[in-house]
Amino acid sequence: MSGLNDTHNPDRKSWVESANNPETDFPIQNLPYGVFSQDGGPKRVGIAIGDQILDLTALEEAGRLSPAEGKKVFSDGVLNPFMALPQNNWSETRSRIADLLDAKAGDRQLPLVAQTAVDMHLPIFVRSFTDFYASKEHATNVGSMFRDPDNALMPNWLHIPIGYNGRASTVVVSGTPIHRPSGQLKGPNDDVPYFGPCQKLDIELELGAIVGTSNPMGQPLTAAAAYENIFGYVLLNDWSARDIQVWEYQPLGPFQSKAFGSTISPWVVTREALEKFRVPAPERVKPLLPYLQEETPNNFDIHLEVSLTPPSGKPKTISRTNYKYMYYSSALQLVHHASSGCAMETGDLLGSGTISGPTPDSFGSLLELSWNGKEPLQIDGESRSFLEDGDSVDITGWCSGDYRIGFGNCEGTVLPAVTFGE
Ligand code: MN
Repeated sequence: MSGLNDTHNPDRKSWVESANNPETDFPIQNLPYGVFSQDGGPKRVGIAIGDQILDLTALEEAGRLSPAEGKKVFSDGVLNPFMALPQNNWSETRSRIADLLDAKAGDRQLPLVAQTAVDMHLPIFVRSFTDFYASKEHATNVGSMFRDPDNALMPNWLHIPIGYNGRASTVVVSGTPIHRPSGQLKGPNDDVPYFGPCQKLDIELELGAIVGTSNPMGQPLTAAAAYENIFGYVLLNDWSARDIQVWEYQPLGPFQSKAFGSTISPWVVTREALEKFRVPAPERVKPLLPYLQEETPNNFDIHLEVSLTPPSGKPKTISRTNYKYMYYSSALQLVHHASSGCAMETGDLLGSGTISGPTPDSFGSLLELSWNGKEPLQIDGESRSFLEDGDSVDITGWCSGDYRIGFGNCEGTVLPAVTFGE
């Protein structure tokens, strides 16, 4: 199913002029799916093209686009019915939409709406959310700070894509504010914990993989199948409360420190759109078990940036990194997730884990960027080790080569803690 086809032709242009701007995230080679509404109306499925959205719900209602014979898949206000279709239907639909938007198309009477005129919504019903820990650089940094620099990586890390089952209920779309969480805190000099607002609120720069094709309970996946079962990818900010985390995380892993909010970008960039940007995983420090061997390059070359804006300041880029550094690809995470016989469902979201590169300016969390507060960042005259109320964080990402495949924005602003339980 994977492979290059006419939708990846770099010479293709669209009659939607803004899609031909080399700076746009959304040229005709991208075609990411999202869910929008206008003037408080019903949710609709659309595809981003330049600075416009093509209304797929309207096209399907008019009989001009029929991904599934005899049933509507763009009328539920989420992508799940479309993602549950056979993978051939994803490709055929992408090809059909590219033809409709191609500069050579004669008919330009299509339902377009400006991206500035709509509200974006969560693009999928998140069936489950699993968060991994797949960057060797991140795991090494955190292990150095929280445990022992000489044994920073746990002995299992080089063999298993480490993960935990997170909360689907608090995955929100870009633009949704996040309240500072409260929880149990215990400082190094405290005899007992107390309950109060998190003092070490952090971000995690991640990529989210969205499962399209399900595998039934009891039926594990090969790496090749897992790669193709992933429908697409979004940017993900996995907000984290570091002080709650250090007190609660042993022995069963993070819990409330990660449960209060995870933000995703509104546009799902399809796996097919990323086909030209596949790269192999980094060299293995220790050989992986046979079920985790990859025959194909399953990582992607995606440039990623994080910017932080203080309440009355200007945005500053605090990290620049790349998804290609990840030790375990999303496909391998999915293989491991299903390896016990765990059923993976349409709409499952897999967080990559914090994406940190090899250099201090490429770390994907404030915990690492400020080295747990020892080296605060200077942002527009203000000092930051962790997030303050009113701070806004925006993640962007794009592939560049023959054309640019962008992910849009993944933004959120910190609201004060809700007071209770004191
Ligand atoms: Mn995370």
